[in-house]
Amino acid sequence: MRLSREDERTGESCSIETQRIILRQAAKDYNLTNIVEYVDDGITGVLFENRENLLRLLSDVEAGNVSAVLVKDASRFGRNNALVSYYVQEIFPKRDVRFIALGDHYDSHNKTQADDMMFGFKSLINEAYAADISQKIRAALHARALKGEHKGGRAPYGYIFDSHDGKKLVVDPETADTVRQIFAWTVEGIGQMQIAVRLRDMQVLNPSALSERRGNGWVQKNKRPGVFKWNQVTIRSMLANPVYAGHIARNRNTTPSYKDKRIIALPEDEWIVTHNVHEALVSQEIFDLAQKALRIKRRPDREGEKNLFQGFLICPDCGKRFSIGNREGRVPAFRCNTYRSSMNKGVNRDCTSHSIQYQDVYNIVLAEIQCAAVLFQNSSAPAFEEAFLDRHKTEKAANAEKSLAKLNNRATELQRIIKRVVEQNALGVIDNDTFADLIAEYQAEQKDIKARSSQLENAISEAADDAVGIKKLAATLTKYTNVTELTREMLMELIEKVVVHQATASYKCKNREQKVDVYFRFAGVLNGVMDR
Ligand SMILES: [Zn+2]
Repeated sequence: MRLSREDERTGESCSIETQRIILRQAAKDYNLTNIVEYVDDGITGVLFENRENLLRLLSDVEAGNVSAVLVKDASRFGRNNALVSYYVQEIFPKRDVRFIALGDHYDSHNKTQADDMMFGFKSLINEAYAADISQKIRAALHARALKGEHKGGRAPYGYIFDSHDGKKLVVDPETADTVRQIFAWTVEGIGQMQIAVRLRDMQVLNPSALSERRGNGWVQKNKRPGVFKWNQVTIRSMLANPVYAGHIARNRNTTPSYKDKRIIALPEDEWIVTHNVHEALVSQEIFDLAQKALRIKRRPDREGEKNLFQGFLICPDCGKRFSIGNREGRVPAFRCNTYRSSMNKGVNRDCTSHSIQYQDVYNIVLAEIQCAAVLFQNSSAPAFEEAFLDRHKTEKAANAEKSLAKLNNRATELQRIIKRVVEQNALGVIDNDTFADLIAEYQAEQKDIKARSSQLENAISEAADDAVGIKKLAATLTKYTNVTELTREMLMELIEKVVVHQATASYKCKNREQKVDVYFRFAGVLNGVMDR
């Protein structure tokens, strides 16, 4: 509901009370329940940002708490065509929110009408505004997270609620070490199934059982006998939860609507993360390593042979990983998975074998690590950096920075222009057709700038990351100065991937050559130090 001064001028005034009566009746007709009213009185509909209650509504929409929005007519929602269009056509459908404008006979659940929008524009998204507002809404959610408030319900395993401040998380001395242990195992390369077994053997109460024992009023529907039985999914979701690194992540999941409670995981870039809200149980470094471990697909190897390199070997030609073959009487060797799985195609397999013996990989990787460690110990920091830095990349980054500055200026100017055009359209200075043409033109330019900027930014950040990364690698190497054998943990900490090229000839051939690139985490390949 909205009542503004413009209405008084044009004589179309319809009091809040009248609007309320009409809307309540309509809500009954549409069978809408759990009704919340949002009222902005005396505020113009041109600018969304001044309308506190509208923003509250949009924030609730973004939080997934709204299933339908009912307005008397579209102008109640907002006068700005582009913005109304943006919310009705982009945001609401995405959140599965039904939009009904009584006066306009518009109901988004009635698709034939929805196709023929009376709003005049088809998905004209004003980026300048949309980005701005969505940021404001996120800021509001952020503010709640910033206070260190947990969503409610049970505290995450490993934490309890502060006795003074019922929403703040503090470390639970009884369970914190279990959490740390779960992360440590994961970094060592132990999978969730195995972790569940270990926890059971150690007779650690699972989170639900613990909660019941503590009498938190949380009672399981079907009491399972296994109070020590840990669920792999529970462990996995614990490992992925930034809460253990001290952060609060909101918006990790959503539900399609208030009726449909299925939980859908949202992509990470839609999370709202507030950092360092409470005491961390594991360091950021450990947390990141665990995320990396979670990404590696674990497949049991044939005959249970231990494979240190699971998930590390990558084919440069098809991009797939390698798996190991341990057939009896054969030397264990890796092959490209694409090749392996297209066996039925005979000579027309989808990739070549890229075959390499386990022992060769072991020796090469060990030698690379030893080499990096020696280099780290015996040379100056700049020399160490030099061994990893890509000179070509550094030069490219310097040029990219200059071009980016120019693009940024134009982008700012463009935003200003667009904002102005939107305002002029809302005030009726620019008619809708002209507005649509102008916006289309500006958007095309914005898109172009965005694409070019992100290319340049990549070049710059790559070079910057490299320098930072090399320092990170150096810090890790201090732990591995006299390495004589490889462990899974060492690989997880030091190595990002091992790229194995197709050999030039078969194993029996004397002149067989095979290129293997060992990529260190953060720093990439070691340039020209080792020659094979
Ligand atoms: Zn391949």
